[in-house]
Amino acid sequence: MTNQAHQGDLEINPSPLLAFLNELHSQYKSVREGAVAKYIPELAKVNPDLFSICIVTVDGQVYKVGDWEQMFTIQSISKVFAYGLALEDHGLDYVLTRVGVEPTGDAFNAIILDEQSKRPYNPMVNAGAIATTSLIKGSGPTERLNRMLDMFQRYIGRDVFVDISVFTSERSTGHRNRAMAHLMLNFGMIDRNIEESLDLYFQQCAVMVNCQDLAVMAATLANRGINPITKERAVDKRYIKDILSVMYTCGMYNFAGEWAYKIGIPAKSGICGGIIAVVPNKMGIGVFSPLLDVRGNSVRGVKVCEELSQRLGLHLFDCSG
Ligand code: GLU
Repeated sequence: MTNQAHQGDLEINPSPLLAFLNELHSQYKSVREGAVAKYIPELAKVNPDLFSICIVTVDGQVYKVGDWEQMFTIQSISKVFAYGLALEDHGLDYVLTRVGVEPTGDAFNAIILDEQSKRPYNPMVNAGAIATTSLIKGSGPTERLNRMLDMFQRYIGRDVFVDISVFTSERSTGHRNRAMAHLMLNFGMIDRNIEESLDLYFQQCAVMVNCQDLAVMAATLANRGINPITKERAVDKRYIKDILSVMYTCGMYNFAGEWAYKIGIPAKSGICGGIIAVVPNKMGIGVFSPLLDVRGNSVRGVKVCEELSQRLGLHLFDCSG
């Protein structure tokens, strides 16, 4: 069932949740703080006014407001799903030997590595995500990319594509990520062909999604790995708790602690301006608004999730209700 609203639709579809999303959308669309990400040249072209909110429940209800059809590249939100695929490919014990689960408190692109344990800190920062992507199995670049795309298709429920302009834009300017990959190679933290792994990482970041896709992906995690619309399994349920734990502690850049404290649900954001948030056994939330704060989180996205958490009582540790 689909509940869709733009301004003025409320009499047609009086769902209270939809009315609430519409209210949040009108309340926050005038917020103009923040700036769009510019360090990947193609991303700087995004319209800063775009704004959408979508909720998908684990029983497949879809609530969406604003520019939910607008496509954009998934960027760092992809790290969550690539981690799931690496866990399926190798199992938790092995993946933990390659990538830690410790928050850094530093920026997503910080050049810091745990030299003692010979691992990047966690799979949600760039270094850890590149190491995670280097673990994706396949006989060559095409098979590895196809396995990655198949995985995204299971979560989203339709064919997915890489935005070639964004991919090539990042590939030709991503010197910092390339430097990190070389450092990790130097420390023996990654061992495959790093150019191939970097390409795969840039491609996974350039997978095109819309806000509804984000909510469906989040709802799939909330629904123990089964896409609530297509009913297809996207990821082995034994890894859901590992994925959600690392989202909870490391998913919101160097705002992760405050997010966990105030909003209290596993989430991941990306410099595209998207945020996914997972309320286990209940719903997935997707928000898209490209104006970012200094840590790289969507300004409107954080405000919307904070309100949703408070007004719907979503904080995982809230016992007051
Ligand atoms: N592709 C971007 C990078 O690796 C993703 C950054 C992000 O969304 O946090 O720098």
